[in-house]
Parts: sequence; C-alpha cells; structure tokens
Amino acid sequence: MYIKKQRLLTPGPTPLLPSALHAMMGSDIHHRTEDFRNLYKQVLSDLKEVLSTSNDVLVLVASGTGALEAATQNFFSPGDEVVVCSAGKFGERWVELMKAWGMKATVLSAPYGDAVQPEKVEQALAQNPNIKGVFVQASETSTGTQHDVKRMGLAVKKTDAVFVVDAITGIGTMPLNIDAWGLDVVIGGSQKAFMIPPGLAFLAVSSKAWNMAESSKTSRYYFDLKREKKNAVNGESAWTPNTALLLAFAESLKFIKSIGMDKLVENAQLLARATREAVTGLGLQLFSSAPGSSVTAVRPPAGMDSGVIVKEFRSRFNAIITNGQGSMKGQIFRLAHLGYFDFHDLFAIIAELEIILAAQGHSVRFGSGVATVQNVYADALPKEAALALS
Ligand SMILES: *Cc1c(COP(=O)(O)O)cnc(C)c1O
Repeated sequence: MYIKKQRLLTPGPTPLLPSALHAMMGSDIHHRTEDFRNLYKQVLSDLKEVLSTSNDVLVLVASGTGALEAATQNFFSPGDEVVVCSAGKFGERWVELMKAWGMKATVLSAPYGDAVQPEKVEQALAQNPNIKGVFVQASETSTGTQHDVKRMGLAVKKTDAVFVVDAITGIGTMPLNIDAWGLDVVIGGSQKAFMIPPGLAFLAVSSKAWNMAESSKTSRYYFDLKREKKNAVNGESAWTPNTALLLAFAESLKFIKSIGMDKLVENAQLLARATREAVTGLGLQLFSSAPGSSVTAVRPPAGMDSGVIVKEFRSRFNAIITNGQGSMKGQIFRLAHLGYFDFHDLFAIIAELEIILAAQGHSVRFGSGVATVQNVYADALPKEAALALS
C-alpha cells in the first residue's frame, strides 16, 4: 500500500477540528489589545456556556497537569487531610501531587480496570470530619474507566470538603452537572474532547472552593488562580497567553455550541458502545468493569502482547492508537472516542483491527465487527432515516 494517511486515534491529543486549526494562523495579535480582550472574553463565556455552570471559569497556559497542580496549590494547605480516589495512572498523579505539596492523603484505590465505589468516599468522609478535599478522575483514561462523580459529589456537598474532579477526558464524554452535583473544581484540557492541540488547561471553580482558597497557605506563583480571576474580568490573562491556542479554542467552542454539549457526549457514548459491541463480538475482552466513553481499553487475544496490535495499526495503516501505560503496557490497547471522532473513523478502525487479528492468526470473519458497528449506526438513526436506508 503506497498511500497511508496518518490518523491520530489516541485519547489526547485527539484529531483536530479543521476550523480551529485554520484559526491558529491568525495568531499575530497582541495580548494587551482590544482584539485579544474580545477573544478572551468570548472564550471564557462560551466555555462557561458549554460546561453549563454558573461557576467561574479560568484558562491556564499548561497541559492538563498544570491545572491539577494549580488546584492543589490554590485551595489547600500543607498538612491538609484529603481523600484521593485512585484507579489508574492519573489517580496516581493525584497521589504524587498530594505528596509534592505536603498534603496528607487517604488513598482509596481500586485495581486497574475497576472504579472506586462512591460508598468508599461516603465512608471516608463519615469517618473523618477534617477532610478538606476529595480528588478523583471523572474518566480514568489509563484504564478506560469512569467514576460515579454524581454520587460522590452529592456526598462531598454535605460536608465542608471541596470536590476536585479531573474531568480532562470526562468533559464531552459523560454528563457532568457541575452545579447540581457539587463538582467544586472541574478541570479540563485542550487536547481531549476540545479537538485542539495540547497547551491549554482550564478550571471551573465554585464559591465553596474560592472560600477555601482564602485560607490556603501553599506557595504558588505562576498558577495564581485569584490573580487569573481578577485579570479575566478585564479580558486578560495574568501572563502572556497562548494566543494561537485561544483562537483555536474559540472555534472549537463555537463548534461545540453549534451541535450542543449533550450531542458531543452522545456522539462519544454511541461510538464507545459500538466499539465495545464490536470488539467483544470479535472475541476480545474489555479491560474495564465500568467502561466510560472517552476511550475503550481492550485486552488482546490470550498470549498476544498488545504492543503488536499498536505496532500493526501504525505500520499497516499509519494509524496511531495507544498501548497501556505502566504495568498495563502490553496488556491492553486503547481506542479513543472523545472529540472529533465519527462513525467513518470507527468503521475503519474495526475493519483494520479485523485485518490485524487475522494476520496474527486469530480466527476472524472479515466484516463481522464492522457489521456490528453498522447495526449500532442504523439503530441510532431516527426511524425515517433508517427506513430510507432499507
Ligand atoms: C490527559 C489527561 C491528563 C493531563 O495530562 P497532560 O499530559 O498534563 O495534559 C490528566 N488527567 C487525565 C484523566 C487525562 O486523560
């Protein structure tokens, strides 16, 4: 095969929205001008709108981890007792951040592939009234698992603790009712469901969290959220912003508003369901007992290293998918659905997976997985459209 288009099929960075990519070329603007202030105000108000929250939203120039660190530094103090839910590599990142900033974490861990049960959070809060914060991933990208942040949030809401949700792959793949569920600090990143390159992180911050910030004693400088909030009111950022990415962000938010955040979520959920049905139909097993819709983690056939599948996607089709991280490397491969993914992508991914499995000696009837995806597609169409197809 002589032409192989490169396709990025990973859970971050994700495929880029063309209009956002084009907008980046207009980045010869200065950040202390009216043009920029209008752009920044638009981004902040559209972000607030797509997140459906009345909380403040702030944008940082950083990858997602920068916002995780900012949340740790700005709302808490060294010695604070906190609860961390850890169900994978990103949960472990919370644990490392707690250590870095001197907080005392009770870690509620679940084995890779499982979710931390909300009852555990309820029990931990009941046992210790001094808990200042609860940290979780809405979607644990390393294992393809989602957490019940609604139930956790409602439990945290009854206490004085602040609920910090890494929703970096949760936003745009699962419903998140930030205000009603008591999700005090919700963190997102540009390179996931927002369909633009890495480099921007953002937070939605409740008044409960801002109150906690008043007594925080952790040192900080670059990630000073109160300073960002003050500047944001005037349409400016504290430091030089990433103008190219903000131009892209404005386009991506426009796109998300045009289809509706709920439809973006539905898109991911539908593709995730079709993927689960197709891979299990091909005889493979899902890794997660509570699979989310950002990414599907799949076990390779018994005895096969998942790296073989990742490499085959790359060498045969120039398609980039992800292996497992850490000890999960070789145990799983992960297919993403968040952001700018569509059925066209999924038909191809599953057809390619069939070819790869067959080439590795796994018995596959060509087209069987693809047919599963076609059936999900047909079932999801409104009745009239489905009739027109038959
Ligand atoms: C991608 C991701 C992050 C952020 O990682 P960065 O490399 O810092 O952008 C954090 N949490 C989750 C769950 C993620 O998927």
